[in-house]
Parts: sequence; C-alpha cells; structure tokens
Amino acid sequence: SAKDKGRNCYQFYHPKMGVLMEERADIEHALHQALARGELELHYQPKVDLNGGQIYGMEALLRWRRPDIGQVPPDRFIPLAEETGLIIPIGEWVLRTACAQLHAWHGGGFPHLTMAVNVSARQFRQMNMPDLVRAVLADSGVPAQCLELELTESLLMQNQELVVRDLKQLKEIGVTLSLDDFGTGYSSLSYLKQFPIDVVKIDQSFIRDVTDSVDGASLTKSIIAMAKSLNMTTIAEGVETQGQLGFLNTHRCDAIQGYYFSRPLAGSEMGMLLQAGTQLPPDSCHAEPRQR
Ligand code: C2E
Ligand code: MG
Ligand code: MG
Ligand code: MG
Repeated sequence: SAKDKGRNCYQFYHPKMGVLMEERADIEHALHQALARGELELHYQPKVDLNGGQIYGMEALLRWRRPDIGQVPPDRFIPLAEETGLIIPIGEWVLRTACAQLHAWHGGGFPHLTMAVNVSARQFRQMNMPDLVRAVLADSGVPAQCLELELTESLLMQNQELVVRDLKQLKEIGVTLSLDDFGTGYSSLSYLKQFPIDVVKIDQSFIRDVTDSVDGASLTKSIIAMAKSLNMTTIAEGVETQGQLGFLNTHRCDAIQGYYFSRPLAGSEMGMLLQAGTQLPPDSCHAEPRQR
C-alpha cells in the first residue's frame, strides 16, 4: 500500500541519512583515486623553540584537494582511509613525501631541521611502522634523529605488548616519539612513563584556556612540570595569542606551534619562511641552555 511505501521511503530515504551515505560512498570512491591523481599534498607547520625563538622543525599535515570540490579536512577523510585500509598506501606516501622534503631542506642549508609525521592508532595497528620507517629513512637519506612520529593516547591504550614492542623498535632506530593532543584522553603522565615517549604535545584545548581560566592555567603548568620530571620535553599546540605565548614562556614550556607564529604552509611557502630566518622576538622566549 501507499502507507507501507511511505514508511519504506522514510526508512531508506530519510533525507539526512541519504545524503550522509551518498557522501560517504562518494568520498570513498574519490579517495581511492586521490593518491594516483596527485590530489594529496602535505602542508608544514613550524615548531618554534622557546629557548632562542627559532624554528627547529615542522609537522607535516595532510591535505586533500578534490577537483571541483576543494579542500577536504583530514578529520573528514582519515577515519575513512583507516576503515578501508587506504591508510596503508596513504600513510606510506605521507612518510616518504615528508622525508623527501626534509632531505631537500637539509641540503638547502637547514641541516638540523626535524620533521614530525602523524600516525593514528588504527594506522599504527595496520602497518608495520618500524619496517616502514627503516626503509623510508634509508631511501630518503634522512637521519633517524630528525624524524618524529606523533602518536595518540588511544594508540597507547590498545594491545599493550605489541605497541610497546613496536615503540621500542622505533626508539632503537633512533626516531623521536611524541604524544599528540595530550590531555584529551584518560591517561595520566605517570601511566605514560612505561612508554618510551620523548615529547608531550599539550592539546590546544588547554592552551586556549591558559589566559582565561585559573584551572586552565594550573593544568597546563602541572603538565609542563610533570613532563619535565619524567624527562620529557613539552610543546604547546594551537598557540594563537601573545598572551598564551607569554604564559608558556614564563612557565618554561620548551616549544610552541600555532597560528600565532604560522599557519600550516605549502612546501614552497615554508621554504621561504626558513630562508627569511623568521623567528620569535627575544622578549617572547627564554635563553637558558637546555637539552633536547
Ligand atoms: P593534529 O596532529 O593535532 O594537528 C594539529 C591541528 O591543529 C591541525 O589541523 C592544524 O592545522 C591545527 N592547528 C595548528 N595551529 C592551530 C592554531 O593555532 N589554532 C587552531 N585552531 N588550529 C591549529 P589539521 O591540519 O586539520 O589536522 C587535523 C588532524 O588530522 C591532525 O591533528 C591529525 O590528527 C590528523 N592528521 C593530519 N595529517 C595527518 C596525516 O598525515 N596522517 C594521520 N594519520 N593523521 C593526520
Ligand atoms: Mg599532530
Ligand atoms: Mg595535536
Ligand atoms: Mg588532533
């Protein structure tokens, strides 16, 4: 009957759901071709040392420029890449492209720059990271100590033994391991002690709060202090204002990243920023020697 039909229509063609499913299938299909068609690119956001104010490295951030549609943010397509297994070739492409770019900058007068690459939890589980990292370092000629992997708390929460084994292998290779978005998960820094993490990236949600709330300020202060006591260095993500920078400098955060200094840039723009020697003014940073 018409009534049943109506109900079926409602079930299968609810306007909202239809759009979502269509969009998903559409993105999935397009993502399959994105690599081969050269639609993926990396942008680079500088990381600035608060001891001296110079750019010491950068983070590679994946961009997908879809013809006729425009930029698709990574949060929209990386989960899909993970579900479909496409994260394996895409993740390898990211690592190879980032290392090739870093090698070019090393040869172009910036021999100590570091490059950080994001690795999501499902990606880490699906790929053999130590093997891939070994191969890419050898092929690109980038020294292991110049490569950093940004990992998430959820990665550290999954299959403990396998994760710890792979992290140890990565440390044996000599790469730097950092913990991205710290504070958004459930783990305390003391829990993280069991993992060979070198750098804590304090999530931007904390940084946003440091100048507006007493809680935000004290949380950030205690993350910096605890990380130091565990021999980890700290970098603040999402630094947007002079006030946030001042707070982080006063409390001896080691480094910053964020729109205040620079948005993520295309490779050529990043090259120009490096050539220009852009750095923080002396009164925005401290000058005590510290070890990395
Ligand atoms: P993330 O690794 O935490 O990267 C930081 C995100 O914050 C980036 O967003 C960056 O553009 C943005 N950001 C940087 N500075 C500021 C600031 O001052 N204010 C604000 N509001 N935002 C800032 P993006 O590029 O959209 O990347 C989002 C997430 O996608 C990344 O978060 C990372 O988890 C993931 N991602 C990006 N590239 C890759 C990749 O190659 N592989 C994997 N597995 N994940 C990636
Ligand atoms: Mg990151
Ligand atoms: Mg982050
Ligand atoms: Mg994030």
